[in-house]
Amino acid sequence: MSELRQVRPKTEGWKQQKDAEGKPLLMFAEPKRGKPPVHLVDMTAEERAAKMKELGMPAFRAKQIAAHYFTKYTSDPAEMTDLPAAGREELVAGMLPPLLTEVKRLQTDNGDTIKFLWRLFDGALVESVLMRYTGRITLCISSQAGCGMNCPFCATGQAGLTRNMSAAEIVEQVVRANQAIAAGELGGSKAKLADAPSRVTNIVFMGMGEPLANYSRVMTAVRTMVAPQPEGLGMSARGVTVSTVGLVPAIKKLAEENIPVTFALSLHAPDDELRDELIPVNSKWKVDEALDAARSYFDATGRRVSIEYALIKDMNDHAWRADLLAEKLNARGKGWVHVNPIPLNPTPGSIWTASTRDVTDEFVRRLEKAGVPTTLRDTRGKEIDGACGQLAAAD
Ligand code: SAH
Repeated sequence: MSELRQVRPKTEGWKQQKDAEGKPLLMFAEPKRGKPPVHLVDMTAEERAAKMKELGMPAFRAKQIAAHYFTKYTSDPAEMTDLPAAGREELVAGMLPPLLTEVKRLQTDNGDTIKFLWRLFDGALVESVLMRYTGRITLCISSQAGCGMNCPFCATGQAGLTRNMSAAEIVEQVVRANQAIAAGELGGSKAKLADAPSRVTNIVFMGMGEPLANYSRVMTAVRTMVAPQPEGLGMSARGVTVSTVGLVPAIKKLAEENIPVTFALSLHAPDDELRDELIPVNSKWKVDEALDAARSYFDATGRRVSIEYALIKDMNDHAWRADLLAEKLNARGKGWVHVNPIPLNPTPGSIWTASTRDVTDEFVRRLEKAGVPTTLRDTRGKEIDGACGQLAAAD
């Protein structure tokens, strides 16, 4: 009978915030707060030139500072000896104001995984998770302090949206991670292998926040990541994954940007009845609309999209749901999509748990049998509350 069982456990320890109509509260607009200091990454070329003028410096100084930041990963004026000593401190402070203060660092996997807890200028807390694999280094970054999407199985959404992060606050997570790697702090035996990368090679927007709800700043950050050094971080667009709950108009916009980032849709249920509950934004954009938008992303970019599916015991892991998912994906063609199921990571207060091994295997088997490429995702950082859905940024 487990085919039919549908368990809706109550969540303990926290209450999902509701709107005036009693539906899960969705926060698209950020609460009014002060803006973070403006940083080089946030400025257009004209704004950089204007800033130089204001500081009484020739325009090319901005390029020198950018080169230090994007190739040496430093914001320290003492290291910028190609800048004149007179006025150097003010110049660098004006272009590279401090944005992230490290509050705490937790490590696991023999030093191959580090979770950073950062304090922003206004006290808001965010996290990023740095993971060394063989031949690549992935950084999971945050795009918002908190999140307004209110998904009941994710720790980040439970406190709502504090604010959008600026483009520079987003990029600074990468720069600080590169700094840590350069200082030999992402240890473990993999660091000693001949092909061990010496900086972040892959970015996933799977930390705190809904990246497409902070669209323009996230796009500025992505453009900075993929711009060639020394104007940007020189990363490959395909190494950057943007993951979303499914904000359909923003997905369409992303498809038109001409930056072939990897796109991931957090689906978690193939039917609207259940997805309405697991992903409250499904009240606005339904499963079919989200899948159509994902397919159009593939059409526009040629990039195979990922469907994220956290397997929650007796909630969304039924065999018929695997079949329905396969049917909906195949109805939109072959070769455009793959599925990444991931066993649910526990979050505080929630009594939902991961699907059992057998049920997980059966879910994957059914998708594969239907011809849908499927990879069970390995999850890192559970021991340090650094895995998907566990980032709550508590001090
Ligand atoms: N807001 C974006 C990105 C952040 S979440 C999004 O939802 O896609 C990154 C991924 O972690 C998403 O696929 C999300 O659904 C998943 N996730 C959230 N909570 C989780 C949990 N408790 N266990 C496993 N994955 C989880």
